[in-house]
This record gives sequence, C-alpha cells and structure tokens, in this order.
Amino acid sequence: MTARPAQEFGDNPVEVRETGHYTEEYVPSFVEKWDSLIDWEKRTESEGNFFIDLLRKRGIRSVLDVATGTGFHSVRLLEAGFETVSADGSADMLAMAFENGMKNGDHILRVVQADWRWLNRDVHGEYDAIVCLGNSFTHLFSERDRRKALAEFYAMLKHDGILILDQRNYDAMLDRGYSSKHTYYYCGDDVKVEPEHVDEGLCRMRYDFHDGSSYYLNMFPLRKDYTRRLMSDVGFQKIDTYGDFQHTYRDEQPDFFVHVAEKE
Ligand code: SAM
Repeated sequence: MTARPAQEFGDNPVEVRETGHYTEEYVPSFVEKWDSLIDWEKRTESEGNFFIDLLRKRGIRSVLDVATGTGFHSVRLLEAGFETVSADGSADMLAMAFENGMKNGDHILRVVQADWRWLNRDVHGEYDAIVCLGNSFTHLFSERDRRKALAEFYAMLKHDGILILDQRNYDAMLDRGYSSKHTYYYCGDDVKVEPEHVDEGLCRMRYDFHDGSSYYLNMFPLRKDYTRRLMSDVGFQKIDTYGDFQHTYRDEQPDFFVHVAEKE
C-alpha cells in the first residue's frame, strides 16, 4: 500500500507564504473531508439564490468557475442552466468535483486543471462571467500573482463580462480578532475552524474534524479595499461589494464579502 501524502508545512509553518503551496495543502484526505466542512445542503440554504439571481439578472449564459473545489457552485450553475466550465489548479479537487457532479443530478462537469496565473494557456474561450468563490483568491501570496490572476480573469471575459469573487472579512480579523459565526461557508457540524496565526501577511487556519484529524490552510489576509483597488487597477470599471449576500453592510458585521466587478 502506498502512503497517502500528508500536508507538508516544514519546521516553521508560519513561514510558508507561497502562492504555489495550495496544491500541497489540499491533499486527498483533506479534499475528501472538504464536503463535510462545507455541508452542501446547509450552504445552499444560507446562500439561497444570491449568485444565480445575480447572474440571471444580467442575462449571463456562460460561466467559468475558476475555483471549482469539490464542485458546489459548478453543480448549482449547471442545475440553473448556465453553460459552465469548471477549472481549478488542484487535480484532486477536480476529481472530487467530477464525482460530485455525477452524484448530484448526473451532471458531467467540463473540468480543466489550470492555475489562475496561466489561465489563458489552459482554458479556452470567452465567458460572460467568471466566479472565484469560497474564499479562494486568498491563496495568492504575492501582489504580482494577484495582479496576474486578475488580469487573466479580465482577459477571459467578454467585453461586458463580470467577475464575482468573494473573500473572508479579514479586516475584522486583523483589526478586532476572529469572531466568525461560521454561518456561511463552513456549515458542516463535523468541523471546528479556528485561526492559529494572524498577521498582516498570513492567516493560518486550523480545521479540526471529529475523527481527531487536523488540517491547515495558509492564506493571505486580503483587506476588502485592497482587493477592490486591485480589481480596479487591472481595468474593471465598477465594483460592487456585498456583505454576506446582502447589499448593505456595516464593515464589522459580515463574515464574507462578495465583490462583483464589471468590465464595462
Ligand atoms: N470554490 C470552492 C468552494 O467554495 O468550496 C473551493 C474553495 S477552496 C477554499 C479554494 C480552491 O481554489 C481550491 O480548490 C484550490 O485548489 C483552488 N486554488 C487555489 N489557488 C489556486 C490557483 N493559483 N490556481 C487555481 N486554483 C487555485
């Protein structure tokens, strides 16, 4: 029997601040657990039709899900009738997404393994919308990579396309300490999610599962206005930011922000 790869953070985990490290963080055993972390039914309930309505209102037909993960949004998009392509840099995530597509409504996902920094090289076509959801953009550790990824997203959108990108409310964590109610994304009852280390350059989260296993993700704590500024710098003309799926928010309240960036 071959040993299953474990997460590898070396002797000093808080020093691991690299964009490319995500593929080593989403090891198969963590990927398998991801769906109990983001219980699909509860997530559907809490999110409602927020993204679907937003896309429909704009007459969107084709969507590129660039952070497919285990396929939650790709499956919802297909069910709602959008032409959907599902990309992710992790082959393990895509394999799970494909399986989940079959299990949830016999959907055959069109999956493409692609890192955002070279998205145009591996994914073809132009899309009405790109979605990058589930606090994924936070995996990019250098500003150069963030700009590169956003520029790649921009280039793959039609002239009037939109990018929908969400993020954890890191401002609240950095300024006031962690207080997530865990209502939105991490809905599984089976897991406790806590930050182990937070500074301006790193948020290291620990995920403790009932079976005694723990996994970690090292992420860059994006400040909301910084993300908005980057989007505007690469050319997006209008950026609306929602808090926890609502248009009005007070900065300290939401767990998550959703940015909707318009190209035209
Ligand atoms: N969107 C899914 C969800 O909401 O459940 C998955 C979210 S998971 C936090 C982040 C995903 O982004 C992972 O599947 C990971 O492989 C992918 N990812 C992170 N950095 C990436 C990169 N540079 N290029 C492509 N995919 C990346």
